[in-house]
Amino acid sequence: MALQSEHGGTNQHDFMYAKKYLQQFYSMDPVSSRTAKRYIRAVSSKMKEMQGFFGLHVTGKLDTQTVAKMKNSQCGVSDVKKHEFYIKKPKWKGNTITYRIQNYTNKLKHEEVEQVVEMSLKVWSDVTPLNFVRKHSGDADIMITFASKEHGDFFPFDGPRGILGHAYGPEEEAIGGDVHLDEDEFWTTGYVKKGYDLFSVVAHEFGHSLGLGHSKDPNALMYPKYKFFESKGFQLSHDDQTAIQSLYGAQSENSLGRSIPEKCENSLTYDAVTSMGNSLLFIKDGYMWLQKYWGTGNVEGFHQNYFPKFQTKIDAAYEIPDRKTVCLFTALKYWIMNTLTMEISMHSIYDLGFFITVTHIDAAVYIKRRKKTFFFVGDEFWSFDEVLKMMEPGYPKKMQDGFPGINGTVNAAFEWAGFMYIFVDSDVYAYHYEEKKILFSIKANAWFRC
Ligand SMILES: [Zn+2]
Ligand SMILES: [Zn+2]
Repeated sequence: MALQSEHGGTNQHDFMYAKKYLQQFYSMDPVSSRTAKRYIRAVSSKMKEMQGFFGLHVTGKLDTQTVAKMKNSQCGVSDVKKHEFYIKKPKWKGNTITYRIQNYTNKLKHEEVEQVVEMSLKVWSDVTPLNFVRKHSGDADIMITFASKEHGDFFPFDGPRGILGHAYGPEEEAIGGDVHLDEDEFWTTGYVKKGYDLFSVVAHEFGHSLGLGHSKDPNALMYPKYKFFESKGFQLSHDDQTAIQSLYGAQSENSLGRSIPEKCENSLTYDAVTSMGNSLLFIKDGYMWLQKYWGTGNVEGFHQNYFPKFQTKIDAAYEIPDRKTVCLFTALKYWIMNTLTMEISMHSIYDLGFFITVTHIDAAVYIKRRKKTFFFVGDEFWSFDEVLKMMEPGYPKKMQDGFPGINGTVNAAFEWAGFMYIFVDSDVYAYHYEEKKILFSIKANAWFRC
């Protein structure tokens, strides 16, 4: 395409627009330099930077293509790598990141916004070890807000079109990670001619929340200009994937197996087993079997498909039937899941009263008639009072004192019909806690009728 002369096809209004644009996205000094000549040189050099970024002809002159590119709706985060937010290339320290939807847009239903947010986070968690946990109150790493014009962070929105949203890079405190969306936009889900698809914008802004800058690749999600992306079956471009994996690594194959464990293998062991309603839930290497105790209707599959929040191995699990809750443990974290609503909340194992030397739980079992939960950690066990919600004094105790006859690490445990079942290696012991004796033992996969 032929180049335009400096003012050919553009007008004074465009020139003012360009100056504002370069100030905002290319940190051009808004104060005019002493001489007009110098100022023009400064504008020209910033314009070259911008043209280079977008792969336009680098002329330093304002042609129609450059104006058109500037005027396309876009993300409000600066295109320049040396932007102050990204100096340190920050990233989140842990793999579990919390988020909270602080308010909603009046253009979409609450459920639609929630679904879009979840899908947008999944884009990033699908290719990294990251997992996202929603919070309904208090502070979260990523706070999502809809706002118009000036909204308290010195980066006011500009009404309809133009800037659609912006986000802050990872930082444990305050505004870091937060996503702001311009409430003055016509937000949609799916492609609508004059609207903006929320997924296409939010998935991009989450990239910033995780520490990414803009990409020059027009096919990338992190390209600064708005582009509609179909959320269904969406996959990150190579450029986006490489960028995010350079910060957090790929999804680790070891912590979450991709192969289905052989359930009839004699040596089968489990990571966790718990009752769940009238079923038993067996978990092994990211795979789960939900066995109905009576009748048919068993379910099995990778637990990510059922509990998308769990991107890592589950260490232990137990149910409190009266409360309709199941607690699931992964390393230092545990989740309380409501088995009716599937609502989930995240906590630290240290909230339960474990010593700081405990870094994971081997197994857990709730004893209905005592209203207490036993936790097994190495060759010791702890007892948690579920009524008083505190660890009982005097624990941990040695396994040989509380559970004589049980030798070796407990992999999993559950209670059923008044019996305690304790899994050690590929065997299960039905145990009478008060009498401290083994009633009988069977193979760990006995439930699968192999
Ligand atoms: Zn952006
Ligand atoms: Zn803002």
